[in-house]
Amino acid sequence: MYKIKTRNEDKIRYLGELGVFDVSDYIYQKESYNSFIYPSVCKGKIVKLFKVLFSNNCIFNCLYCANRRDRDCPKYRFEVKELAETFYYMWKKNIVEGFFLSSGIDNDVNETEERMIEVVKILRKKFGYPGYIHLKILPGVDEHLIKKAILYADRLSVNMETISSFHLKRISNEKNFNNTLLRTLKKLSYLSFEFPIKYGITTQIIVGAADEKDKEILNFSYSLYKNFRLKRVYYSGFIPVINTPFENKKPCSEKRQFRLYQADILIRKYKFLPSEILFDKNGILFLNKDPKVLWAEKNESFYPIEINKGDFYQLIRIPGIGLKTAKKILEIRKNTKITSENILKKIGIPLKKVAPYILINGKKIKKLENDIGVEESNSTIFDDVV
Ligand code: SF4
Repeated sequence: MYKIKTRNEDKIRYLGELGVFDVSDYIYQKESYNSFIYPSVCKGKIVKLFKVLFSNNCIFNCLYCANRRDRDCPKYRFEVKELAETFYYMWKKNIVEGFFLSSGIDNDVNETEERMIEVVKILRKKFGYPGYIHLKILPGVDEHLIKKAILYADRLSVNMETISSFHLKRISNEKNFNNTLLRTLKKLSYLSFEFPIKYGITTQIIVGAADEKDKEILNFSYSLYKNFRLKRVYYSGFIPVINTPFENKKPCSEKRQFRLYQADILIRKYKFLPSEILFDKNGILFLNKDPKVLWAEKNESFYPIEINKGDFYQLIRIPGIGLKTAKKILEIRKNTKITSENILKKIGIPLKKVAPYILINGKKIKKLENDIGVEESNSTIFDDVV
């Protein structure tokens, strides 16, 4: 086993680089300003997050994980004060705008969580840091520590990693899905009724490590949204890590991850049921097409929708019309009737895309040469806080 090192700059870089495995937003994987600073979206604005692990030492040995007990790699751990001061310094210098703190389970779950909470407590109480904090709740932690974490963090999350006991066994035979992972998330959700968390609760599923099908993943996410009032489920595409038993396993494709986010937003915001999402015969999302377009193609009888009459939920089932543009249509309809496609064009609706699905004042849109709007359903993936 490697000795815990103490040099701060090595630690920041190393534990910050490992922060890549904890997803806080979909865009982080596409660009990173630095090895430990990740762009994330907060209320439509990109913010720079200092994303870091408190420790990459872990008592568990999950087969895919960079922090696993038996992995031959340097092991680092922050001191509480050292990490609080490091973040505060970077925030004061305007290098970062928010803080995301996760960790391996270093010796004891409660002890590790307690230290992580101490870091954010110092930031809030001693330094008066007013900004964004996303803190991980480690699975199996005591309830009193969750209550304490709620006092200081804006967002809390518990990593589920996978979707069932069956799948968990494929990546770890030491952890318990129902009694540890799910129970911790349940506890956090229950406590959040009494002690509201500003930006809510999220979780993360590693896609591709335990060979879950997309259909199973989305059914699981749906149950989490319904039962635990989760704000977001993040889908972290599996990336093989050198010196782990899964180092030669196939990575999850960017495209699959993207389609999962698209299907997730249909369930979370467009009120699709998981049973309405279309999958291939193996239960995987079709990679070559947007799941909303696929649904529309399979449900021809639902269309055309008269743009002057369709309700909000009918409008957002039209490919090319998203949550924002549907609202704009309803606003316009309060004062006037929509009589030509120019009005839709002005609010950024891609006419070529919506044409097969709508009527304007009883008429179909005439043949179009160019598509001028934006695909809103894709951009809405980024519509949330970090
Ligand atoms: S418990 Fe978490 S940090 Fe530890 S090895 Fe498993 S996945 Fe990695």
